[in-house]
Amino acid sequence: MEINHSIEQKIIAYRRHFHANPELGWLEYSTAAFIAEELLNLGFEVKRGHEVMQVDNLMGLPAEQDNQLAFEKAEKIFGPEKMQAFANNSTAVAGILNCGEGPRVAIRVDMDALPITESNSRDHFPNQAGFASESRGIMHACGHDAHMAIGLGLAHYLAKYASQLKGNYILLFQPAEEGVRGAASIVKSGFLKDVDYLLAAHLWSNMPLSKVVCSQNGTAATDKLDVTFYGKAAHAGICPEKGNNAILAAANTILGLHEIQFTGEGLRRVNVGRIEGGTARNIIADGAKLEIELRADSQTGENELLEKLESIVKASAHKQGCSFEIKKVGEASAACGDNSLAIQIRDEAMNMNYFTDVILSDKQNRGSEDFTSLMKDLQARGGKASFIGVGASMYGKNLEHHTPDFDIAEAALNPTVALFFNLIKRLSRSHL
Ligand SMILES: [Zn+2]
Ligand SMILES: [Zn+2]
Repeated sequence: MEINHSIEQKIIAYRRHFHANPELGWLEYSTAAFIAEELLNLGFEVKRGHEVMQVDNLMGLPAEQDNQLAFEKAEKIFGPEKMQAFANNSTAVAGILNCGEGPRVAIRVDMDALPITESNSRDHFPNQAGFASESRGIMHACGHDAHMAIGLGLAHYLAKYASQLKGNYILLFQPAEEGVRGAASIVKSGFLKDVDYLLAAHLWSNMPLSKVVCSQNGTAATDKLDVTFYGKAAHAGICPEKGNNAILAAANTILGLHEIQFTGEGLRRVNVGRIEGGTARNIIADGAKLEIELRADSQTGENELLEKLESIVKASAHKQGCSFEIKKVGEASAACGDNSLAIQIRDEAMNMNYFTDVILSDKQNRGSEDFTSLMKDLQARGGKASFIGVGASMYGKNLEHHTPDFDIAEAALNPTVALFFNLIKRLSRSHL
């Protein structure tokens, strides 16, 4: 691919625009409307909201007040008419480019930011270059700003070279990746049901620039759960026996849960990351809530963890005479990329004059990824998928994901676009 410098500059500008205007999962209203405009201008057929996703029973929705604020803000920028299709957290958007008979290829891009206050350090590049987050307490601290820039950059290349391509190309921008909440809504909609190839890339700030892993298979299965205990309040001094202590039920659950990660085979992780409950020190707590995540390196392991969690919660609640509710607010499955596709990605990466360290696949665990749900669904229908890891470390620094100082090297953006584009050309040629 010849490097088109004006597109390259646009990609950087997109990244900085998204970085300055971060939105949390399911609230990516302005982000979605911006992407829709860009795709339309490039001649893509644009699908919005319920045309791309199933909007019932979305997992891990934000508070209604935050939802309203984010939606109204977007309406002010884009006008109510353009926002209608994205209302009620329907923030998925996709661009389709039809280049005739050929393979159907989808690239999935994540869109959401995190509830993190960006660093105000002068060493932090977004501060130096004037594109730090304009929304206090919200930050693109995982690189999804860069992923969207890559997606739109690819849209430019696809539009420009459409006459050289055969096939159907979908750029799918998926909401709420963090907390693995969003992909299930796309799977349920069946939007990708006719796709032959599905790809996604993640930039990693802790992987050297010019390194690429063509198939990252180390993602774990995970469940994100909210467990609530309902007890009964009573005077803690006069008649504690008349109460049902929800905090004790929660505490018992925490202790029980942290033990089960050391049982069974393979990797298992349990974490209670948040607890809330009770009303005052002299009242037996009538309610308590735990935010929990489970992870395992196999689906069997994950199912075992889930079963054990249920029995611990049940026993802990029973002991205190409390009732309980277990609510799933996010999930992802363990999945493996297709080797034949990974080999094609590797060959294209090696043909480029950029990647110096090309790894076919690794099983290094990098947490969980929403993409695996889409991947598994497609593979079950005979499609091929791969999750690509791209090195984007800043000046050799190790700026960890999900921290206020996080940053990625913008030098990784254009080569990632080029890798996708070269691969698309290859798939376009090889498909008979
Ligand atoms: Zn993340
Ligand atoms: Zn991420």
